[in-house]
Amino acid sequence: MAVQTLAIIGGSGIGETFANRPGTESIEIDTPFGQPSGAILKAVVDGMDCLFLPRHGHRHQFNPSQVPYRANIYALKQLGATQVLATGATGSLREEIVPGDLVVCDQLIDKTHSRDSTFFDDGLAAHIEFADPFCQRLRKQLLEAGDAINTSLHDGGTYVCMEGPQFSTRAESILHRQWGADLIGMTCLPEAKLAREAELCYALVALPTDYDSWRPRNPEADKNSLLTEILANMRRASDAATALIEHTIRRLATAAPVPCECQNALAQAIWTDKSHVPPDVIDKLNPLIGRYFDGQP
Ligand SMILES: [Zn+2]
Repeated sequence: MAVQTLAIIGGSGIGETFANRPGTESIEIDTPFGQPSGAILKAVVDGMDCLFLPRHGHRHQFNPSQVPYRANIYALKQLGATQVLATGATGSLREEIVPGDLVVCDQLIDKTHSRDSTFFDDGLAAHIEFADPFCQRLRKQLLEAGDAINTSLHDGGTYVCMEGPQFSTRAESILHRQWGADLIGMTCLPEAKLAREAELCYALVALPTDYDSWRPRNPEADKNSLLTEILANMRRASDAATALIEHTIRRLATAAPVPCECQNALAQAIWTDKSHVPPDVIDKLNPLIGRYFDGQP
């Protein structure tokens, strides 16, 4: 396996860890799918090349439907990323997933409907395998790194991704529980699909910040105390996720290179006769598909 560059897509706590590191470079980059959410920070951490991209922008200006998911994944690929650790706030749909815990998700349900969810919509049909949407190798590294942090880390969980930005009704929240979902969030899709299309290993650390609306609330609690509690859980989970990612980077930096099938996801996935794919499409998608076309890197 070639040299691995790790990208981190996530929230503010983790970004600060990077931004304050001496020698961090800030890279402005453009893609055929527009500009990513913001400048990408680049640093060497424990000897490993790392990139950091704030999903919602450096000023949190993009709501979940507006995040430029395609530009984000394309830009990371262009900068040499081979694997992605993502974080995302969620609601908990299970009593045992306590707000402030962390979850290394293993399944996804897609309820989004207003987002560009593929790179392959123009002159090229490709169908990637997505039965297991997260990289098993990265999941294992995260779970093993979890031993070093002082927070409950759940192995597995089904994340249902909704369009938002409004939260679920109570009936929807109860329905999601009946579907077998454990967490609800708004950002893991199409990000995980695009990462697989770009042959990037991808894993998600979910940060449950509250119980979703299925759970009856204490009628005595006022709205402000609820908000204060959510923010406190968010801070606790962000600190724990930052520590988890730092420990995972340390492990990845010294891990023996092993082949990962995510990084060959397109090998059997391109269905269009390769001799009929228009040259401008190959050109546009070159960082993603170039190696499957003659004469391309
Ligand atoms: Zn992988």
